[in-house]
Amino acid sequence: MAKVYHDGDVDMQPILTKTVGIIGYGSQGHAQAQNLRDSGVKVIVSDLPDTANYKLAVEHGFKPISAAEAARQADIIQVLLPDEIQRIVYAKEIAPNLKVGKALCFSHGFNIHFKQIVPPKDVDVFMVAPKGPGHTVRSEFVSGGGVPCLFAVQQDASGKARALSMAYAKAIGGARAGILETTFAEETETDLFGEQAVLCGGVTSLIKAGFETLVAAGYQPEIAYFEVMHEMNLIVKLLVQGGLSYMWYSVSNTAEYGGLTRGDVLIDAGVRQRMKKILADIQDGSFSKEWVDEWQAGGRKFKDLEAKERAHQIEKVGKELRRLMPFIDAKEV
Ligand code: NDP
Ligand code: MG
Repeated sequence: MAKVYHDGDVDMQPILTKTVGIIGYGSQGHAQAQNLRDSGVKVIVSDLPDTANYKLAVEHGFKPISAAEAARQADIIQVLLPDEIQRIVYAKEIAPNLKVGKALCFSHGFNIHFKQIVPPKDVDVFMVAPKGPGHTVRSEFVSGGGVPCLFAVQQDASGKARALSMAYAKAIGGARAGILETTFAEETETDLFGEQAVLCGGVTSLIKAGFETLVAAGYQPEIAYFEVMHEMNLIVKLLVQGGLSYMWYSVSNTAEYGGLTRGDVLIDAGVRQRMKKILADIQDGSFSKEWVDEWQAGGRKFKDLEAKERAHQIEKVGKELRRLMPFIDAKEV
């Protein structure tokens, strides 16, 4: 098993003498900034004036400044902007203020791995990626725990980048749970594959295919919704809590026998073959090129795809049914 480092294995000292500049006070930004400050690290933050997150930073006792100013003042520049805009803000505001001896940090490897950002050779480049959303990174820290983090060093100009990345991970609470070492390539490629093939793309397409199959066979869409979408929550929770075995143990024997005999018939060699293709497109850079080009061209295809998804019958049916269930904390976009 991969080595897991805990609080006792990691020295926080390397980061206690540094100023960390958090660029972007969003989901990760607000959590990492406050956790670092609570751990005794000097933190400055940046967000855009007159935005909700700027005001939040002020409420939290920070005095937000521009990304350029934060990059100028900080020793460690933690880029917590949306991935699509990191390249532009880096070029305009961060790069001109990157000096020898500074460190550039990320919570996701996309821009470095796919060379959207190419830092100078004389700065450290590392990653600390919490494996959970920002609000959990903060709430766990406040209650004395932490969210596991991945850490990786892409460029070690100072000779101390690895120690610094581990100290950073500890200061945001990661080592209370455990931190694991990875590379920018591994984190980026597995993250993209997971969200495309399994978590986001795979699951939604599986749900839609199941729904359409039932509705085409004459069953009521409302009933189909409950069977293929609503109950997903229960199954996923069991999987996360206790893996495959606990999920199978918790469902009925009929569900277990049916699932064990039919699941692999569905997810067959053809699906695995196409998964390999999805992975190959990520590894050779074709996916990232497609996405960056799409974004830079204005995101027309992206918006069309979103509109098409929103118009799916399961969305209309689901919206009505969720209104019957206040206990699920229903959301609308
Ligand atoms: P968010 O979109 O939540 O936050 C980004 C923040 O940056 C927003 O407050 C945004 O302001 C602000 N911003 C935009 N432009 C500028 C600018 N020019 N100067 C200063 N601030 C600016 O991002 P996330 O926290 O979700 O993601 C940050 C990074 O963390 C990404 O690399 C992501 O992949 C990674 N990550 C995210 C996780 C998550 O749970 N969300 C989990 C692990 C990693 P405004 O909103 O007003 O535009
Ligand atoms: Mg991920």
